[in-house]
Amino acid sequence: MRNQQSAQLLFELSRPGRRAHRLGEPGVPTTDALSGFDDRFLASDPPPLPELAEGDVVRHFVGLSTLNMSVDTHFYPLGSCTMKYNPKRNERIASLPGLADVHPMQDPSHLQGLLEMLYELQEMFAEISGLHGVSLQPAAGAHGELTALLVAEAYFRSIGSSRNIVLTADSAHGTNPASAQMAGFQTKTVKSNADGLVDLDDLAAKLDENTAVFMLTNPNTLGLFDRNIEQMNKMVHDAGALIYLDGANMNAILGISRPGDFGADLMHYNPHKTFSGPHGGGGPGAGPICVRDFLTKFLPAPIVTRREIETAEGQTEWYYDLSEPTEHSIGRVRSFFGNTGVLARAYIYLRTYGGDGIRRVSEDAVLSANYLLSQVKHFLDVPHGDRCMHEFVASASRLKKDKKISAMDLAKRILDYGFHAPTVYFPLVVDEAVMVEPTETESKQTLDAFVEALFRITDESGDTVHEAPHSTRISRPDDVGAARRPVLHWSQPETPDDQS
Ligand SMILES: *Cc1c(COP(=O)(O)O)cnc(C)c1O
Repeated sequence: MRNQQSAQLLFELSRPGRRAHRLGEPGVPTTDALSGFDDRFLASDPPPLPELAEGDVVRHFVGLSTLNMSVDTHFYPLGSCTMKYNPKRNERIASLPGLADVHPMQDPSHLQGLLEMLYELQEMFAEISGLHGVSLQPAAGAHGELTALLVAEAYFRSIGSSRNIVLTADSAHGTNPASAQMAGFQTKTVKSNADGLVDLDDLAAKLDENTAVFMLTNPNTLGLFDRNIEQMNKMVHDAGALIYLDGANMNAILGISRPGDFGADLMHYNPHKTFSGPHGGGGPGAGPICVRDFLTKFLPAPIVTRREIETAEGQTEWYYDLSEPTEHSIGRVRSFFGNTGVLARAYIYLRTYGGDGIRRVSEDAVLSANYLLSQVKHFLDVPHGDRCMHEFVASASRLKKDKKISAMDLAKRILDYGFHAPTVYFPLVVDEAVMVEPTETESKQTLDAFVEALFRITDESGDTVHEAPHSTRISRPDDVGAARRPVLHWSQPETPDDQS
């Protein structure tokens, strides 16, 4: 049986006294390290940790890793998540000692290379966004949303305004209203129209003197660029509110259109999506934000700055430093300068492609998505048209009615064909949503194989599909209801009493 060990918990594998190491005699006099500690803080028994050999631990974790699907093992068309290939050269460069082995408490004079990289990254993010001020601190996209909304809040407070409403689109990611709530705003939802775009009448009806920020995702989560953006830009700004751009879909427009040019005052990037950082399983990520010039003074500190200095040889060179918070700054949102490991990968990625290259990234991502859409629409409804940006949303609604195959069934069964599932049931505005994002890093052969698999599933029997996946170690762990236990596709090995 494959990976027998990984089916057991480390606690089940534990045997008393088994160890991964043996320490030699210390060779120096020993003292009682615990003497002097208050008894109240000392446990009478050691903590009940599993006792294991190194091989047990390695097999356990390597075994678990093989139960997973990842970008390195499978096509991963998870819509909205931009699961593109993570280039291995990013990993190699990001682990160079000058990036990986420095400590953020070191004096900036010791960190010139790292700070130069972060400075240039700030400049690149500003250029791609068409905005001015950048903070690299936020640790994820959602954290970027929160940070930017706190900036907006500080701005309105500074001009004596008590605007307290954030408008979010009904197709928005759930993090949008959640971030607005966390930043202390109340939220109102703006409806989508039949075309999947923001309903301008509903926007007009909800914009008023209490509106602080309109949060927009463009292209939106249906994979559509909202062509009414200029009108929305005017409406929102005429009402005295700001526009926040959720930048999770930047993979569609890099080097093609800039949020700052189409009206955004604040935005975040998801470097772990757009700029090829590895992600999934909760992180790490980053959520750098960009803001328009009049908002920069509210950004968290430090920001990486540079100034010219004269060297001992009488030449001038750049010296990179960390800014002090301004009196208007919202303060820190994360320790030090952000998740520099993720930021380093974004920097390497951007440097590798260069300006023309990243435009090509988006063009290819959009081409791949349109190719997939042109094939998938022959057997799945795609309610919002024949063209998309970097992703599209199909609906399994008719399939469910005709053949009792739901979006969830499709997602589960496609695992058996060796593909990660698309995003399902998001965005909420499409019934039985199946959201597919191929990214630019997949070949036509992979896309064709994926279409073929999806098509074959639509033709399969209910039993095959409803019990799927059949090839994974666990089937449907969390959605089978109390009446039925999860199907475990392995027999739990007997644990002998003692094999030490
Ligand atoms: C992923 C995503 C977010 C949240 O970003 P995280 O980095 O996961 O916190 C927000 N909005 C959209 C549209 C997203 O796809």
